Amino acid sequence: MKVFKVSSVELDAMMQEWSKVHRVYAPVLAKQPATSSDCAPGWRRVDGGSALTLSTGPTPASVKSFFFPQPETLLTYTLENNHPDKGLMREPAKSKKMQVVVGVRPCDARSVLLNNLPYQEDPFFQANRQRTALVGFTCEQTLSTCFCSQMGGSPFGSEGLDLAFSRTQDGFIVEVGTAKGEVLMAGLDLAPAEESEISALASRRSTGGKADATELDTLKGSELGRLYDAPMWKSLGESCINCGACTFICPTCYCFDIQDEVVRGQGRRIRYWDSCMFPLYSLHTSGHNPRGQKVQRTRNRFLHKLKYFPDRFGPFSCVGCGRCVQDCPVNIDIREVMSDLLAVE
Ligand code: SF4
Ligand code: SF4
Repeated sequence: MKVFKVSSVELDAMMQEWSKVHRVYAPVLAKQPATSSDCAPGWRRVDGGSALTLSTGPTPASVKSFFFPQPETLLTYTLENNHPDKGLMREPAKSKKMQVVVGVRPCDARSVLLNNLPYQEDPFFQANRQRTALVGFTCEQTLSTCFCSQMGGSPFGSEGLDLAFSRTQDGFIVEVGTAKGEVLMAGLDLAPAEESEISALASRRSTGGKADATELDTLKGSELGRLYDAPMWKSLGESCINCGACTFICPTCYCFDIQDEVVRGQGRRIRYWDSCMFPLYSLHTSGHNPRGQKVQRTRNRFLHKLKYFPDRFGPFSCVGCGRCVQDCPVNIDIREVMSDLLAVE
């Protein structure tokens, strides 16, 4: 793997170079509405001249919107009589320009790999993945709500990143992880990193990296019926107000619904984020709702992340970013849910 040395000034210059040919995005430090139609909330378009500032811990908004936009137009059509396109459904023209997302934390980079498991055959997700490069920054500091290392990740991880920057005493070293990373580095005149810097990062990775996940991993082998019938769900279901905030801010929640919108005879079929915390989510057309009660929905969210998803794909569907811990209005903490699940008799 190629590893280069980069100063802060060189990093700003790199972002400016990339923005001449690609769409470059950087996080904003507070949650705010989208600044333009092609920019996800919580991110801003970099068009030269602005330095990168990162907060400690995960970016306020996850990278999910770049792969799974909210909403995403799947096809368009017209209902106008006599229109030459009447009866045709067309895929909207989408930009093929590379989007470079700068400032991604290791937890979010892993979330894309996890979401790729259920979306392996989803052409929209895959097209977005193909045209997106992730430029990440490992975490020298974490928040009290961060627990990536318990979920199989690491604050110093580079998994899923095309370029991974790590702080050194006088700037950064950058690891080129993929072919997309090579494209971004092409033509840049940078010095190779020194051996001492590379081994310092390797030592941080080995001492502050992944935690021993053995205890949590026992959940994967647990009998579902025992976890499903645990008494803990009753009080958790009573506390949860089913606002859905945890699902929308979560980088690994990927449920969607599809609706048709017709305005003045022009229709579009859109996919938009849905939440298993909402009663309508599981309502059948027959009127039956298998998760009509709050407790059933709360249990489903946690068991999906910690049992159903790993049973099907292997890893947990949580990267330990802690956003849901920070934002839950009633202070439900997935780490406590995990401990309670481990204690179920
Ligand atoms: S954010 Fe908290 S209260 Fe809202 S749905 Fe999630 S767990 Fe329930
Ligand atoms: S469940 Fe919570 S901690 Fe885990 S990935 Fe989602 S938002 Fe982050």
